[in-house]
Amino acid sequence: MSNASISSAAAAPQSDQQSPTLDALIVGAGFSGLYQLLCLRDKLGLEVRVLEAGAGIGGTWYWNRYPGARCDSESHSYCYSFSEELMQEWEWSERYPEPPEILRYLNHVADRFQLKRSIQFNTRVKSVHYDQHANVWQVGTEGGERFTTRFLITAVGCLSAANVPKIAGLDSFAGRWYHTGEWPHEGVDFSGKRVGLIGTGSTGIQATPVIAATAAHLTVFQRTANYSVPARNVPLTEEFKRYVKQNAKSIRQLMHATTNGHPFAIDERSALQVTPEERQALYEAAWERGGLQFRATFQDLLVSKAANDTASEFLKNKIRSIVKDPATAAKLADIDHPYAAKRPPIDTDYFETFNRSNVALVDLRATPIERIMPHGIRTTAGDHALDIIVFATGFDAMTGPLLRMDVRGRGGVSLADAWSAGPRNYLGLQVAGFPNLFTITGPGSPSVLCNMPVAIEQHVEWITDCIAHMRKHGLTRIETSAEAMDKWVAEVNRAAAATLLPQAKHSWYLGANIPGKPRVFMPYPGGMAHYRTICDGVAARNYEGFSLSA
Ligand code: NAP
Repeated sequence: MSNASISSAAAAPQSDQQSPTLDALIVGAGFSGLYQLLCLRDKLGLEVRVLEAGAGIGGTWYWNRYPGARCDSESHSYCYSFSEELMQEWEWSERYPEPPEILRYLNHVADRFQLKRSIQFNTRVKSVHYDQHANVWQVGTEGGERFTTRFLITAVGCLSAANVPKIAGLDSFAGRWYHTGEWPHEGVDFSGKRVGLIGTGSTGIQATPVIAATAAHLTVFQRTANYSVPARNVPLTEEFKRYVKQNAKSIRQLMHATTNGHPFAIDERSALQVTPEERQALYEAAWERGGLQFRATFQDLLVSKAANDTASEFLKNKIRSIVKDPATAAKLADIDHPYAAKRPPIDTDYFETFNRSNVALVDLRATPIERIMPHGIRTTAGDHALDIIVFATGFDAMTGPLLRMDVRGRGGVSLADAWSAGPRNYLGLQVAGFPNLFTITGPGSPSVLCNMPVAIEQHVEWITDCIAHMRKHGLTRIETSAEAMDKWVAEVNRAAAATLLPQAKHSWYLGANIPGKPRVFMPYPGGMAHYRTICDGVAARNYEGFSLSA
């Protein structure tokens, strides 16, 4: 986003200091908040306000401007599909868009539907308290403003609470340090600098080659080695752009029919039913095609360990063949979990980067960090002198963005207490004791296991239909029950246990990256299409599992 558009966004109308009574208040102006605003304000005619902590729209893409950042859903699927006109008029330039292009797209959407006039920027929500006598939510901001609303909808994203690990001595570091999820908008100049990058998830793997290209030296601190498949980003051809426009409907249908909401079908074969030669050829073709589609090479990669072993061995061999130094290759290929049991990264020249003379890899399993010193990072094997530290250390995922808001429901019970043993809710949408509060892409929904815009549109449309139903019938309160939550949590656990996903013990899907966080498998792994059917069935059966009242 250009500075000009940030300042014009920041100039959006500010709230007065009184308590406006709203029908709905939405927290967050990323993909979900924008669409929820459009649906509630323009479809249902409600009085709606969006509060956004940033100075502009975009959510994830507003904050994650680190070097190498790029979406790993393909651009033609990483957009709204609710409007045929919007789909026809927008054109992506690359297979995987970078944050500036995604922000241009979202600003186009916001301008086209005149959304910014209902968004208040630079406003971080601090408290969200339910007043059970008035059946309203009282919302307080860091700036001291107060709002009252009937419906409260969180559109805060799953990966928006940055995790900066508590490493002793960080305060003493004489250089500069940054978290990738709170990247300075003016950028960071790495030229001539000795840089340390901690973390080898999707973010670290994207950032490594780009930082290495300008830094004097880059040290990558790896705790858990990771698989990665080449993204194979390319500019889109005119022919492909035409194909996308001409086939917009069928692409949308495909995304709605698949497990992950991506525009590609999963092969129906088992990895074990083909010959080793065929399997190798299919993996080679998938490697050449690049991207998250690698997961779709066989139908059983995420449910059969034996099938998965064939993919992980192929990928580990790729690492060994790309990385020239055998010791470095061995550390990079020493991966402790099944392929795609953690969110699989895709990259541009990640493993190749370790062949550069200005790049080194430190294996933190062998030599853990002891502390940060004024001049760099001290591991058990010695000191690494650094001018800049980049924390690509991920997020307090899914629950973090909700819990940092001090949400209190019936009787003043805090969401933090309600979720002290891990998130419990119904359909990922609502928590018992927190009436009229909806959580878009909350834990317990497919969310991060799905191409996000697909998951977001489904939640937004379900919530919109639900509120429309309530208004039509003169109802003012919707609340789920402990029983409905118990059943849903059991379903999430059942679906997770049917996959290899829980086998990655250090996964943020399980909350394992945050010390002290309860280990609960958070996203719903039963598949997006199946989840949509479940939610539609709940609505059709008069909102089964919820109680609605006037
Ligand atoms: P992540 O997957 O949680 O990876 C964080 C990395 O930091 C891991 O390697 C982790 O090691 C390491 N780490 C965390 N705390 C550490 C500590 N105290 N000491 C040493 N290492 C530590 O985070 P991410 O890479 O930011 O990605 C998060 C998610 O964001 C992705 O999975 C994806 O869903 C999304 N994302 C998407 C895109 C895209 O669309 N292109 C790009 C980036 C991110 P352990 O594994 O040992 O915990």
